[in-house]
Amino acid sequence: MRGILAFTLLFVAVLSKETFVGHQVLRIVPKDEVQRSQLKNLEEMMESELDFWREVTRVSTPVDVRVPSHALQFVKDFLGNQNIEYSVMIQDLQALLDEEQEEMDAAAFSGSPRNTDSFDYENYHTLNELYSFQDMLVAENPNLVSKLVIGNSYEGRPLNVLKFSTGGTNRPAIWIDTGIHSREWVTQASGTWFAKKIVKDYGSDPALTDILNNMDIFLETVTNPDGYDYTQNSNRMWRKTRKPNPGSSCVGVDPNRNWDSGFGEPGASSSPCSETYRGPSAHSESEVKAIVDFVVAHKNIKAFITIHSYSQMLLYPFGYTSAPSKDEAELHSLAQKAITDLASLYGTRYTYGSIIDTIYQASGNTVDWTYEQGIKYSYTFELRDTGFYGFLLPAKQIVPTAEETWLALMAIMSHTFKNPY
Ligand SMILES: [Zn+2]
Repeated sequence: MRGILAFTLLFVAVLSKETFVGHQVLRIVPKDEVQRSQLKNLEEMMESELDFWREVTRVSTPVDVRVPSHALQFVKDFLGNQNIEYSVMIQDLQALLDEEQEEMDAAAFSGSPRNTDSFDYENYHTLNELYSFQDMLVAENPNLVSKLVIGNSYEGRPLNVLKFSTGGTNRPAIWIDTGIHSREWVTQASGTWFAKKIVKDYGSDPALTDILNNMDIFLETVTNPDGYDYTQNSNRMWRKTRKPNPGSSCVGVDPNRNWDSGFGEPGASSSPCSETYRGPSAHSESEVKAIVDFVVAHKNIKAFITIHSYSQMLLYPFGYTSAPSKDEAELHSLAQKAITDLASLYGTRYTYGSIIDTIYQASGNTVDWTYEQGIKYSYTFELRDTGFYGFLLPAKQIVPTAEETWLALMAIMSHTFKNPY
């Protein structure tokens, strides 16, 4: 009976899952201003059909775009006619997705872990597996880790935050979140690895021990749980929240354009079908509002780090304006130290700078808001890779990615601890 039920559920899941047979990801490099604006036109013309993994920004900066099979000829003709150079980065997206799914199924076959030591950090996991990891970690370390529920997602899932604390009241704190964009799977996986790393290193790594004897760390590993569940069961390429948009058939808001800092200014879309749709109003998404309320109520957060993929970048405010922040020099040199430490492990190279200088104008983004709330050390990471796999980073890169990123996190956290303000 249970076998039949499991089989039926699996069958339903397979049936309802969106496939990407014949979809390609193209890397396009505009060589001058004319080509750049032609790409912009293409983006606007085919907004609901093309999925920009890396948006059109400036001349010579690559643009990565997923093109459905039925639109491939049109897009390739368009590029050819304008003499715009491109290469095929991913030949058949579904083939990569099938590989990823097979790996996950093989890993799941070995059964659920009994504790966080036997948890499989080298594979991607379902939402429930990540939730049960959190509960195991809390149960195993009651004096160090607790779980806060800071709100609920649109579909009613808990927004869990792990609190690492050795005591005190409202100590100065560091915030880290992963997975606000649901398809960036290496981030939720890295966040899970960080949680275990904090527990392992407390009491053995002097730098982290020092930090935790004086500060608290808050870690939200699945910041967009509805989106994450949707990437697992319906559409692997889902980025936004899952709230419907009245008057539109397109669902969801970009939770990294929904913050009340430059909200509605250039650098976000007003169209519900866009991947960078800012939402009907600032903080309209409960996943964003929960963090806003938490930060405002806490009043003592000193560093705020939000983690995305991909592109290998470390970014600081601002995104909505080209005016430098008053702490730009310090943020810049700390970013340089952090990426140097990161590269020391496997040689992974990052670029860094303000969001607007390094990628593009992005209004309503997380760290512009946290910085304007007075959190000086506000950073956005874009983890591996630079586009070979993009969002479909193979599971065997999870642990190396987390390990190297941890070195950069330690640089930022140590600096925050040593430079109170
Ligand atoms: Zn992202």
